[in-house]
Amino acid sequence: MSQLTHKVWMDRALAEAKLALAHDDVPVGAVVVRGGRVVAQAHNRREVDSDPTAHAEVLALRAAARALGSWRLDGCSLYVTLEPCTMCAGAVVLARLPELVYGAADPKAGAAGSLFDLVREPRLNHRVQVVTGVLAEECGAVLRTFFQSRRPQPAGCRGGAAGTAATLPATRGGVA
Ligand SMILES: [Zn+2]
Repeated sequence: MSQLTHKVWMDRALAEAKLALAHDDVPVGAVVVRGGRVVAQAHNRREVDSDPTAHAEVLALRAAARALGSWRLDGCSLYVTLEPCTMCAGAVVLARLPELVYGAADPKAGAAGSLFDLVREPRLNHRVQVVTGVLAEECGAVLRTFFQSRRPQPAGCRGGAAGTAATLPATRGGVA
């Protein structure tokens, strides 16, 4: 598929990522495409659903499987704004997804080439075609803006516990 086509779908994933901002979730978006049309799209809902597995990729893959009536996502491509983590890369393999396209790399947690490469692991029974860096700058910028807005003081220290504790009651206030 052409770079232009990849950009069109990644732009869609990016729009989906921004929807996560409405509920203060890390802005990551995912779109499943087959045959030139969107099968499913989703954004990160970990905070709003209090669900450690509610990553954009997993939600999009589940919705796509429901829509297609099959757990096997033959002929589908997953577009995601951030390199998938170990869980999501595992889900991509389980869905037998032929193609994964991601925007920004995640050097700290990425499992599609950065920290691990589960999607191209020769010991597993399925390998995925990977396209990286599509709209990487835009995808990364959304994340940077989100994290900067949560940490107004560039303290530069890693003892972020105080800052986290201070913001938690405000964000969780209405949930309980
Ligand atoms: Zn994930």
